[in-house]
Amino acid sequence: MRKPVIAGNWKLYKTKQEALSLVEELAPLVADAGQVEIVVAPVFTVLPSLVPAVAGTQINLAAQDVFWEEEGAYTGEVSSRMLLDAGASYVIIGHSERREYFGETDETVNKKIKAALNGPLIPIFCIGETLAAREAGETFKVLERQVKGGLAGIGAAQFAPVIIAYEPVWAIGTGKTATDAQAQEAHAFIRGVVSELYGAAAAGKVRILYGGSVKPENVKGLMACSDIDGALVGGASLKAASFASIVNFGQ
Ligand code: PEP
Repeated sequence: MRKPVIAGNWKLYKTKQEALSLVEELAPLVADAGQVEIVVAPVFTVLPSLVPAVAGTQINLAAQDVFWEEEGAYTGEVSSRMLLDAGASYVIIGHSERREYFGETDETVNKKIKAALNGPLIPIFCIGETLAAREAGETFKVLERQVKGGLAGIGAAQFAPVIIAYEPVWAIGTGKTATDAQAQEAHAFIRGVVSELYGAAAAGKVRILYGGSVKPENVKGLMACSDIDGALVGGASLKAASFASIVNFGQ
């Protein structure tokens, strides 16, 4: 059995006080979600102040990015050791916004996943095709390249904690969700690539989250798909009520 993960990506939103209010409102609403792993990813600066707020709750903290070096002359970067120190236990890596606006490639994503695993932080490794790639019939080719590139040189034992998030770029922040069938087809394909890399047992265990305009209204259908093990949620994670109802999809 794969434990579902519902993760909220807060992107460039929420100051310290706003983040604290959101967590305080969210915690009682998800107190009965023991069957679900709950993660929220605030901006770096807010992480330490959320540590006492999430203590004793079901909520875990993630960062939205990590640099691959541990320390050094890398102005503006943050290492996995520093993220652990700040209270994160997960980190989102390779989000499409980072690939699009900050020049991330399969190679940099790969270095970041390795750095996270060494932290140790649990990587939430994001992949997904653009609309142009889907329309050109290249979805599987892109996903295979991203999975294999992101995981290059990572052995089976090291891979075990990795969470994969399938986020079709055309569905992020657009209100257009992939249909349940489109998402299931992509997830099954990704699981197949993991099986090719690490074997059937590892593929059976890896959690693959769907991301792209997940809302309380569509989460149940997505979660009913056999290869969808959770959600990475952007917009709908910024309000306690909507994120809680996504977390509580099974109730
Ligand atoms: C995301 O940022 O990972 C995301 C899926 O955003 P949204 O839910 O707003 O589409």
